[in-house]
Amino acid sequence: MKSVDIASLARPAVLKLRPYSSARDEFPGPARIYLDANESPFPAQFNRYPDPHQNELKNLLSRIKGSNVNQIFLGNGSDEIIDLLIRAFCEPAKDRIIVCEPTYGMYRVCAGVNMVEVVNVPLTPTFQLNSSALREAFSRPTKLLFLCSPNNPTGNNLDEGSISSILDAFEGLTIIDEAYIDFSNARSWITLLQEFPNLVILQTLSKAWGLAGIRLGMAFANPEIVALLDKIKPPYNISSPSQQIAISTLQDYNLTRVVDAVRAQRHWLSNQLFLLPGVTRVYPSEANFLLVQFRDSSPVFTRLQNAGIIVRDRSRALHCDNCLRITIGTQQENEELIDVLRKI
Ligand SMILES: *Cc1c(COP(=O)(O)O)cnc(C)c1O
Repeated sequence: MKSVDIASLARPAVLKLRPYSSARDEFPGPARIYLDANESPFPAQFNRYPDPHQNELKNLLSRIKGSNVNQIFLGNGSDEIIDLLIRAFCEPAKDRIIVCEPTYGMYRVCAGVNMVEVVNVPLTPTFQLNSSALREAFSRPTKLLFLCSPNNPTGNNLDEGSISSILDAFEGLTIIDEAYIDFSNARSWITLLQEFPNLVILQTLSKAWGLAGIRLGMAFANPEIVALLDKIKPPYNISSPSQQIAISTLQDYNLTRVVDAVRAQRHWLSNQLFLLPGVTRVYPSEANFLLVQFRDSSPVFTRLQNAGIIVRDRSRALHCDNCLRITIGTQQENEELIDVLRKI
C-alpha cells in the first residue's frame, strides 16, 4: 500500500474546523416528538430535514459498488464534490491542481472560483496521458490531479498502465472521474482504493442511471478523505426526494438494458456518421457520446440547430478542430440526426 499523509495535504483551516452540528447529528432519532430542528410539525411529504448522512442510500451503494460505507461521500452532483475537494485541499492563491485537457471543464472552473492555480498538462494527440510531462509537473508541489476516464469530450479510456504509474508517482490526490464508466469495457478503479490512500473515484447517477435531474454524485475514497469532505459539506446537501428516488432506482433499474441499448445505438450512429462525406473522423467511444470531426463543423452545427437538433461544439478544444460532441439519443433521434446531416 502506498503511504500518504492525507492530513498534510488538507488545508490547515479545514483540519482545525469544528463542523456545524445539525439537529439530526445531535439526535439522529428515533423519537416520538421532534421539536429540535424548527421544522413544520404539520404532516406532509417533506416537512422533515433529510438524513444528513444518507445512511440507507450509502448502505445500498456499498453493496452495489463493493466498497465500505465509510469510503462513500455523496454530493449534489459530482460537480459539488469537485468543488468540495478543491476547498478541502487547496489554499486559495497558493496551491495548484493539474488537469489534462481536453477534458471536463468543471475542474478548471471550480479551481478558478476558489483562486486555485490550474496547470494544464495536455493529453497527447491520441488523447492519452503525457506521462513524462506529468512527472515533470509533479516536481512542483501539487495538491490534486484530475483525470477523466472515459474522458469527456473525447470518449476514450485513459490507458490503465499510465494511470497506474501516475498513481505510483504522484504525492497529491489523484481524482479519477468515472462519470461514463458504466458504458465502458474498462474496469472501475474502485477496486484499487485499498492500495492507494490518495485515490478518489468520482461516479454519478446522471448518465447511465438516467437521474441527471436529482443531482446525485458519488465519491469513493479512503475514509480519511471522506471525513474531510463530510466536515465541510452543507449538512443537508442531498434532499429527501433525491435520496428516495436514488434508492428506488438503484433497487429497480435495468442498467444493463439501458447500457446495451446505448452501445447498440453508438455502434449504429458511428457507422452512419462515418459514411457521410462531410465527416472526416469518428473517434472511438467508450461513453454515451461520440466526438465527430467534420470537414467544416461550424455550418453543420448551425444547420443542425436550425433543424432543432442541438449538439455540443467542441471545435475550440485542444486537438479537437472541427469537432462536435454528439450524445447518443434514441434510435428515432439518431435517425433524424443522420437524415438532417445527409441533406447538408
Ligand atoms: C456529466 C459529467 C459530470 C457531471 O456529473 P453530475 O453528477 O451531474 O454533476 C462529471 N464529470 C464528467 C466528466 C461529466 O461528463
